[in-house]
Amino acid sequence: MTSADTSHSIYDQLNASLGAMRKSYNCTPDTSYDERISRLKRLHTGLLEYKDRLVSAVNQDFSNRASAETMMIEILPVLEGIRYNKKNLRKWMKQSDRHTPLMLMGAKTKVHYQPLGVVGIVVPWNFPIFLGLSPLVGAFAAGNRAMIKTSEFAPETGKVLEEMLGKHFSEHEVVVVNGGVEVATEFTRLAFDHIVFTGSTQVGRIVMRAAAENLPPVTLELGGKSPAIIHDSFPIEEAAKRIAFGKGLNAGQVCVSPDYVLVPKSKVSEFAEAFTSSFSQHYPTLRDNPDYTAIITERQRDRLVDNLNDAKQKGALIRTINPANESFEGTRKLPMHLVTNVTPDMRVFQEEIFGPILPVIPYDTLDDAIDYVNERDRPLALYYFDWDSNRGEKILKKTHSGGVCINEVMTHTVVDDMPFGGVGPSGMGHYHGKEGFLNFSKAKGVVIKGKLDANHLIGAPWNNKYFNFFVNFQLRRFKKF
Ligand code: NAD
Repeated sequence: MTSADTSHSIYDQLNASLGAMRKSYNCTPDTSYDERISRLKRLHTGLLEYKDRLVSAVNQDFSNRASAETMMIEILPVLEGIRYNKKNLRKWMKQSDRHTPLMLMGAKTKVHYQPLGVVGIVVPWNFPIFLGLSPLVGAFAAGNRAMIKTSEFAPETGKVLEEMLGKHFSEHEVVVVNGGVEVATEFTRLAFDHIVFTGSTQVGRIVMRAAAENLPPVTLELGGKSPAIIHDSFPIEEAAKRIAFGKGLNAGQVCVSPDYVLVPKSKVSEFAEAFTSSFSQHYPTLRDNPDYTAIITERQRDRLVDNLNDAKQKGALIRTINPANESFEGTRKLPMHLVTNVTPDMRVFQEEIFGPILPVIPYDTLDDAIDYVNERDRPLALYYFDWDSNRGEKILKKTHSGGVCINEVMTHTVVDDMPFGGVGPSGMGHYHGKEGFLNFSKAKGVVIKGKLDANHLIGAPWNNKYFNFFVNFQLRRFKKF
């Protein structure tokens, strides 16, 4: 078989799955409240039943992923999301009455939130459960079916997800598609009713191009360089502690991990000391410590090591935080690194880090730090450390990012009552909670006209007395702003 034949057959198989699902959806396009709740409930049941196997599969995929992290950052937030959707679904599903303009006197207007149909979900490797199931919760709540393309770099998790969803759902409700880039490429060519892609900005562009053929709405959850800014007045040790906690999670392989930290010039060494001490307290050893997650693949580890070498060659100072002075030969573990003396020609300055490396960039004034952020691509998240709420507000107003935490990192991702999503190169569209429901629904505007119909009075031939009265009346209304 040639590669063209292979991709043809992959596409045909996926398209057949989509076709069967859409056919089934078309039989009951107005998915009832009870059906949506039943799907959320079955997902809840499946997760509780498979949680240990999922934790163990992710551990296998990473060669070592802290079980507590999988529970805390993948399983629990999906359960929380299910509960939040269940609690609010009836309210969100209600048609909403809208203001009717004078021109439509006698009519009623409302918005009807309708499922879109079949949602395609593309998942990255770093949170292979949460980033597959959290969009699924939103898609189900909004009454859709879904096909989920898992990451080829988390194959064990993909298998367990396939089994879990296969056990609790029919193939007309949700299908898991496991496979490599060739499968992903064909998957994103399908005529879905919505595509949610979570992954790199680079692949996001490819997905957007592929989607242009069918024009489904696309939600892009991408990456980028999320800064942390520490104000001069904020206790540096406290900031370092809070940042070290977040940066240690999944060994920095998190889309919203602090990518670099902007520190007042005079406090760079103090920050480095405090960060080292805090990280070492969390992880006194690394090599055989199950709490410290490994790098997902050899290739990703090589990329990170190459980036460190590149920075070193170009004059950066690198502090390796390896508290027990261990060797990592034969493992995919990589200790945490702080990088100072960073210059624009270094890859750690230019590219998303996505691993246990933290460049520390000195700044003079807060405005300089704000300019530094604004001169770059709009990030997925921004973190600001300052007890002064006025300056906090200033940061909110003067910078753009997908989300913000003040005096904290990353936790905005698990708040269901807030939209989650990037802006520009870090993504487009939102999901989670109500925004997720809206994202996966079509908000259909509806006008319902009553028995009274004045159109025949004011309509053509124009310039009749009713028309003139109506226009003059309206113009009098609009005389003032
Ligand atoms: P990736 O872009 O390499 O892959 C993501 C998914 O896209 C995988 O399922 C892959 O099979 C598929 N894919 C790869 N090539 C494709 C192609 N040509 N056409 C269609 N699909 C293709 O990303 P990754 O390495 O798995 O994940 C890391 C990236 O994801 C980082 O940039 C990170 O910031 C980002 N991310 C973003 C979020 C978020 O919520 N915004 C969350 C996690 C990760």
